[in-house]
Amino acid sequence: MKIFETHAHLDFSNFNNDRKDILKQFFSSGIEYIINVGIDEETSKASIDLAEKYERIFVSVGYHPHDAKKFDKNVILQLSQHRKVVAIGEIGLDFYRNLSPQDVQRKVFEEQIILANELNLPIIIHDRDAHEECLQILERNNPQKVVFHCFSGDEIFAEKIIQKGWFISFTGTITYKNNKQENVVRMVPLDKFFVETDSPFLSPVPQRGKRNSPLNLRYIIEKMAEIRGLSPKQIAQISYENAVKFFLKDRM
Ligand SMILES: [Zn+2]
Repeated sequence: MKIFETHAHLDFSNFNNDRKDILKQFFSSGIEYIINVGIDEETSKASIDLAEKYERIFVSVGYHPHDAKKFDKNVILQLSQHRKVVAIGEIGLDFYRNLSPQDVQRKVFEEQIILANELNLPIIIHDRDAHEECLQILERNNPQKVVFHCFSGDEIFAEKIIQKGWFISFTGTITYKNNKQENVVRMVPLDKFFVETDSPFLSPVPQRGKRNSPLNLRYIIEKMAEIRGLSPKQIAQISYENAVKFFLKDRM
């Protein structure tokens, strides 16, 4: 079974004591590729350092909405030239925590979409409590390849994303009791989704509350398989193929 972990933050200090060991374990457990995602300059650079050490790690660089106030266009322009950088993200709007002012978030989000378009790179979206505004800003810039990471919208919003030809990515939240994504998992076209852990965050049941790691991707795959009436192997394979096409097509 080939597995593609499409969103993790393995450069974070949560992994400082055992990063080497767990990466060894990940890659011998069927995980073929990992996209390590930056949230600012420091973590984007740290992601690149990791990708230089591990052939099967690729990188997304960008300023998370929480860090929008630190945005420096030249950092993205420079880092995106690295051979392992395959996406811009995670970028977007977070009107739940509002750690950067909303007007700064909007401006920085749009500037990074424009950059991604110029660089011809896919975009990883972080959208929390800002669905319609995310959509509006995206629509007026018309990027080709977009994934809504840790999708948190309803079926109506999912339908809009799918209509655009964009992707939806599911985390451990689909394993939580009372999650609202079950119908979205049920309706998403099989060529329009990925799975991801967002490690070290959002551990799936039965690991909830502990540090998350890409090894837990199997719980998300199993849950999705159960909802769709497919085997875990099928879900893993489809997500793998979708992600290779989306992130790595021009690299292989
Ligand atoms: Zn993330």
